[in-house]
Amino acid sequence: MHKNSLNLFIKLISFDQSLVKTKKEIKELTDSLDACNKELHQLSLSLETSIHNVRNLKKEVDAKELEMKLLDEQEKAGKERLASVSSDKEYQALKREVEGYKKKQHEYEDGLVSTWGAYECAQKELESLEKKYTDEKEEIERVILHKQERLDELNKVVESHAKEQSSKQEGIPEEWLTLYKRMSGAVSNPVVEVLRGSCVACFYKIPHQDILSLQNDELLSCKGCYRLLYSKNESVQELEIEEKGSD
Ligand SMILES: [Zn+2]
Repeated sequence: MHKNSLNLFIKLISFDQSLVKTKKEIKELTDSLDACNKELHQLSLSLETSIHNVRNLKKEVDAKELEMKLLDEQEKAGKERLASVSSDKEYQALKREVEGYKKKQHEYEDGLVSTWGAYECAQKELESLEKKYTDEKEEIERVILHKQERLDELNKVVESHAKEQSSKQEGIPEEWLTLYKRMSGAVSNPVVEVLRGSCVACFYKIPHQDILSLQNDELLSCKGCYRLLYSKNESVQELEIEEKGSD
């Protein structure tokens, strides 16, 4: 009974090990898809930022131009009024007012020119970003599609593996399966062989008493790495020869 259980258990392990590569590829694909999506998000974020920047600078240009226009109108109105004032005192005051408008216009002009410059720069930057966005977005989306297709394929493999796995668990003690499941979450090779008295994963030297238990088809945990240990007995070796012969 125990011997048979161990054989079944070893068969289940090698069956599960065949999926290690697939699971690794799934993990890599998932990580890579995450990175692609982040890149895509970053790309649209920088485009949005650029659009906002252009919009804000345009508003600033418009506001400054309006200010200039108002100053211009105030200056013109002042000049017109200059022609109709009677007293010299009033004339001098108005003249100072008109000159004040001129001075302000002059000051505003520098600001307007630099804002215009920034606005034009931002527009050019937006144009090149838009091109970059279109090109790169297309490329990233193509990569995503490709990776997603591969991921779907691999998930199907995992799915059919899971179906087959439950039938392969029949005849194996529940306790072993629980231990196995717990270790599977931690390492990719949860069950290892004892070779020449040591664990093949961590090389921990297995005490003599444990070797005897293993030879008696018991399942033990390695005290070095906590992996489950088994020792191939005659019936397992026979089984392997049988399987190789039938290949
Ligand atoms: Zn070990």
